[in-house]
Amino acid sequence: MTKIHTLIFLKYIINYISELVQIMRILLTGGAGFIGSWVAENYLKEKHEVLIYDNLSSGTVKNIPQDAEFIEGDIRDYCMLEEAFKKFRPEVINHHAAQINVRVSVDDPVVDAETNILGSINLLQLSVKYNISKFIFASTGGAIYGEPSIIPVDELTDKQPLSPYGTSKLCVENYLNYYNKIYNLDFTALRYSNVYGERQNPHGEAGVVAIFCTNILNGTGCKVFGSGEQTRDYVHCNDVARANVLSLNSVSGIYNIGTSVSTSVNDIVTKLKDFSGIDFKSEHLPAISGEVNHISLDNKLAGKVLGWSPLISFDSGLKRTWNWFNNNSS
Ligand code: NAD
Repeated sequence: MTKIHTLIFLKYIINYISELVQIMRILLTGGAGFIGSWVAENYLKEKHEVLIYDNLSSGTVKNIPQDAEFIEGDIRDYCMLEEAFKKFRPEVINHHAAQINVRVSVDDPVVDAETNILGSINLLQLSVKYNISKFIFASTGGAIYGEPSIIPVDELTDKQPLSPYGTSKLCVENYLNYYNKIYNLDFTALRYSNVYGERQNPHGEAGVVAIFCTNILNGTGCKVFGSGEQTRDYVHCNDVARANVLSLNSVSGIYNIGTSVSTSVNDIVTKLKDFSGIDFKSEHLPAISGEVNHISLDNKLAGKVLGWSPLISFDSGLKRTWNWFNNNSS
């Protein structure tokens, strides 16, 4: 091969590789929170540029990876959001900021809708104005299907949310379909099951694993609502973050992100006793009315279209999570 041929060949290889690992500018809302911070880390690992936009209402600066840019702002503030679009010039929006407390949404559906619906519409309007090439949305599989008669549920199962929170997430999915049809905005909505793992905030009502780990460590034991035989589909936060990476190049659509495996609250108590070696108290309290009894998600579509499947079993994820809380408790 002559020198000129070698140079042409090298240029071809470099172009091919840079197309394969296309670096993207991603504006990530809610990146100071639990799941958002895992998503940010996974994007940065892939060399993407990340701007986190978060009002720190439940997230913390400690969660923000060093290499991410950060703007403290609220998604309800259209002008401030627009400044972030102008400054950072994102190509992709990843939308994780939300009011996540189901009980707050029941007590004050307006507050829930202001963040979860109106804040999302602000982002969608700006996405059209600034030619965003992909909009990724953190939806819910746990709160959108209601109490299904058959589990695991696939994406075509009837949507019967039992709370304003689930209703607001479904509403945004409908807006995504509208923006896609009318403005050609490419989107991926990921319906997460129950996400757990390191850094989850134990101070809300959601996140039974984080709450139990914290309560075991501070000696207050575990409060189990109802019989404890209600089951959920627990997916580790790093698996969820991988789904967000794979979504960057996927076709528009809505995908369940769960394991299809059902685990009861009593199972979690037993496993935590085993992993921690602590014989903590667990106390049963009356069931919470309106709570779903059994839910798990069919993840076949995500496997087929995104090439995603969970890699972390519940046992190994729970051990990792317990160890993290044990090492980080003050
Ligand atoms: P989180 O509370 O840790 O993260 C939410 C983040 O959004 C926080 O950093 C918070 O400060 C920020 N935020 C809230 N309101 C805001 C606003 N008005 N403007 C700007 N930032 C705002 O919660 P999480 O568990 O990491 O949830 C992240 C996303 O995933 C949410 O959209 C949630 O609905 C969705 N989700 C979570 C689960 C789960 O099991 N944790 C399941 C399904 C879907």
